[in-house]
Amino acid sequence: MDLIRMKNVKKVYKTGTTALYDLSLNIEKGEFVFVIGPTGCGKSTLIKMLYREEKPTEGSINVGGIEVSKLKNRKVFKLRRKIGVVFQDYKLLPKLTAYENVAFALEIFGLPQSEIFDKTIKALELVGLKGKAKSYPSELSGGEQQRVAIARAIINSPKLLICDEPTGNLDPEMSREVMKVLDEINKMGTTIVMVTHDITIVEEMKKRTIELDTGRILKDHPVGTFKGVNFRSKGVTSNESA
Ligand code: ADP
Repeated sequence: MDLIRMKNVKKVYKTGTTALYDLSLNIEKGEFVFVIGPTGCGKSTLIKMLYREEKPTEGSINVGGIEVSKLKNRKVFKLRRKIGVVFQDYKLLPKLTAYENVAFALEIFGLPQSEIFDKTIKALELVGLKGKAKSYPSELSGGEQQRVAIARAIINSPKLLICDEPTGNLDPEMSREVMKVLDEINKMGTTIVMVTHDITIVEEMKKRTIELDTGRILKDHPVGTFKGVNFRSKGVTSNESA
């Protein structure tokens, strides 16, 4: 069953720039999909439209049964409940501990403290950071901060986890730790769509890989078929070669 259906999607920004042309794409429940391509090819635009940060100019986008392209502003929360988002720069609150950063995402729902505690500890355990619950972001490595951000993103059990260059600020070792966590979350059933420049990671993970070029899908590589060597020869840099 498809979790995401994008049909004939076009995005033209107010400035007149066309970021995506006639893009159609289906992603099934439980898939792990990379989105790659040179800077400016439309990767961010594509994922921003999935959580309605941007609206398409034409075409339809359906996420988990919600027609995103027609969604009224006051109903956007219904979509956002189904989606967790992880950014390159973590976006943790510096004055809150790891525990508080994760629990914060639950507190708005007014759950009892005991339930908030159990869920938060479980999420921190899943990302391997139960022992760092009391640490502040400034006391954590980049990889640890990103894992706190992942725990926060999955605390409400979203169907879809969107990751925008989650390893962009991390060295290869920390990147692998983050990817291990994402792979585990995916194996537990969460669909993952991840934008990345890190070709080494894409090669290692062997997932479906959607290659964009100037607003179009250049190639949709099925699981296990992506060859980084072809991609690198086009002059696109990865984090490790940059
Ligand atoms: P990528 O994530 O692959 O680097 P983007 O989706 O950010 O690509 O950008 C695709 C194109 O749309 C680029 O030409 C970019 O300059 C343009 N663009 C992105 N965001 C905006 C915006 N808010 N307003 C106008 N143009 C934008």
